[in-house]
Amino acid sequence: MTDTLRSSLFEFLPIGAYRTTPGGVQLRANAALVRLNGYDNEAEMLAATQALDQGWYVDPGRRAAFKAQMESQGAVVDFVSEVYRHKTRQRIWVRETAYVVRDANGCIQFYEGTVEDISESMHAQQALAESEARWRMALEAAGDGVWDWNIRTGEEQCSDGLLRMFGYEPGELPADLSALDTRTHPDDRAQMAIDRDAHMSGRAPAYVNEHRVQCKDGSWKWVLSRGMVVARDHTGQPLRMIGTHTDISGRKRAESLIWQQANFDSLTGLPNRRLLRQQLDAAMAHAAPHARPVAVAFIDLDHFKEVNDTLGHDHGDLLLVQAAQRIREAAGGGNTVARMGGDEFTVVLTDITPDDCLADVLALRLKALLDVLSQGFELRGQTVFVSASIGVALYPTDATLVEDLFKHADQALYSAKGAGRNRFCFFTPALQVAAQQRARLDADLRVALPQHQLEVVYQPIVALASGRVHKAEALLRWHHPVLGPVSPAQFIPIAESSGQIIPLGDWVFEQAVEQVAAWRQRFDPAFQISVNKSPVQFHQKAAHTSNWATQLMQRGMPGNAIAIEITEGLLLDTSPLVTNHLAALRDSGLDVSLDDFGTGYSSLTYLQKLAIDFIKIDQSFVRNLQPGSTALSLCKAIIVMAHELGMQVVAEGVETDMQRDLLLAAGCDFGQGYLFARPMSVAAFDAWFVQNKS
Ligand code: C2E
Ligand code: MG
Ligand code: MG
Repeated sequence: MTDTLRSSLFEFLPIGAYRTTPGGVQLRANAALVRLNGYDNEAEMLAATQALDQGWYVDPGRRAAFKAQMESQGAVVDFVSEVYRHKTRQRIWVRETAYVVRDANGCIQFYEGTVEDISESMHAQQALAESEARWRMALEAAGDGVWDWNIRTGEEQCSDGLLRMFGYEPGELPADLSALDTRTHPDDRAQMAIDRDAHMSGRAPAYVNEHRVQCKDGSWKWVLSRGMVVARDHTGQPLRMIGTHTDISGRKRAESLIWQQANFDSLTGLPNRRLLRQQLDAAMAHAAPHARPVAVAFIDLDHFKEVNDTLGHDHGDLLLVQAAQRIREAAGGGNTVARMGGDEFTVVLTDITPDDCLADVLALRLKALLDVLSQGFELRGQTVFVSASIGVALYPTDATLVEDLFKHADQALYSAKGAGRNRFCFFTPALQVAAQQRARLDADLRVALPQHQLEVVYQPIVALASGRVHKAEALLRWHHPVLGPVSPAQFIPIAESSGQIIPLGDWVFEQAVEQVAAWRQRFDPAFQISVNKSPVQFHQKAAHTSNWATQLMQRGMPGNAIAIEITEGLLLDTSPLVTNHLAALRDSGLDVSLDDFGTGYSSLTYLQKLAIDFIKIDQSFVRNLQPGSTALSLCKAIIVMAHELGMQVVAEGVETDMQRDLLLAAGCDFGQGYLFARPMSVAAFDAWFVQNKS
């Protein structure tokens, strides 16, 4: 290389170049260096720098460092310092490279070097560092932890806040991705990878993922991780990603509590109706491809209400918890057991195979359920017995939708209860027809009273010895606008289960009170009308019965103007509501009549305990009355017993002279039946009474 070339290269180099004496005296400076130092030409600069030796480095220590390196290593490379522009004393950042030039003998001749103004890139770097520090501070102040991931190297910078979130002190974890990743819950890793990919590949604008991280103490913490790729290479591959961790453990706890409350029964811990629906749906979807059946069994505890009423809700709750436990055990693992509310449970049996003897197999399983529930329950030292009624519907035979299966199981349950409880009943299409009819009657019955479709008719009760009439029974009639007359045997049970019996019963009572007042005035001052009362009406608040007595008093009538007809089942009900009601009625002087005697289970003890005035022998005995028949013996026995206990006897359903004669001979006090008269409207009764008297 020639000297001229070298000198022009020196002159036109875009960065500063110089030659100094080892003592620091400037010998040459190229144009770029002259400009860098704020001078117009080399001569000016050389003169100025020789005149006064102002410090060049802002930090004087840099000069010593420079010298030391030159002397020890003979060169300085990429030596970055803040310096003063010679002329203006303005601070700039420079990068220096220099070397020692020696002569042939190895003696130092001078220093040569380059100076590059790097102020711009230094300021940019500083600004970047400041802004990074600022956002980190902002994020950490918001309670978030910050991470900065170098994707190429796997190195991950975690903010102190992030480490503390998991119980670590700064520096305690190695700065690489695996340090945190290995602490991620195994169940959450797959989704995390999916979410990361979605963002890195550009499908998602940001990386968002919720996962669990194991803390230093071993506990798990839920975090919401959000991040973004902030640098990609020229092919678009992500290089760097930064983001935050937000502790969402509190929210997750609340969510899981809400989920728990929304899906489980708090008393028994069993799934509730809502979760059952989902699980049944899933069970059906699972069974369908294998053509496997799923059985839905609705279980209702019989007589649970009595336990609740007599022993209190605490005992009732205990019983439910134990019952839940027994049902779960009897159902067997893998089968869903849910509590629908109250004393109703549901079992979904999925472990059954399609088989010719499916019904028999199921019957065994259901029998087992009935058995465990009919065994005594120990409730704080007291043994309590209940039983259960079960209704069963099958998927896919009976229905393929959850709602329909529920409906059918409910219909089957209804029929199990109707058949006498402590039994199970399978759904049949006939049950569905009956259920539909019931539903229709129930709906129609709601408007029957306001639309004047109801009527109370009266059937005379005849004193057998004299043939005279001092009593009548009030019987309800429904004239349905489309179906015509509907039997009370049909609509009373519906009204009982829907609760409509309360207003209907009150209305019948009002009618009877009006009527007995009228007949006492016109025919007989001792006339008595008996009114049928459903057990349901006795489960009302006590105020209700006293209301009946008040009505009589307001009409200025003694209590015995009305007799209340109850059934034997009511006497078995030991609930305080029922016994209080009966006592209140008796206190007000109303007579009590035991209807349909002989069809239930009443024991002699009850008859004695609750002072009953009349016993009504059920039609089924009267119908079979023949001289020398068992029915006659039974009737005679009932009559003797009743008289012994101070009660009078009414025979129901007397249709023939023979029946009347046999009853009269047996000492029966009263007879009621078609032989004397059918139930009649008020007008017909009036006419009949006048005619009968004459
Ligand atoms: P029940 O209280 O045992 O009433 C007697 C039933 O026997 C009445 O049926 C009556 O019409 C019928 N009967 C009377 N004499 C004869 C006869 O010689 N032969 C035959 N085969 N039957 C006779 P009804 O009116 O159909 O009532 C049926 C049941 O409905 C009643 O039985 C009663 O339990 C209930 N019921 C009727 N009205 C009311 C009411 O206002 N409230 C309540 N809770 N139940 C009522
Ligand atoms: Mg009756
Ligand atoms: Mg009866």
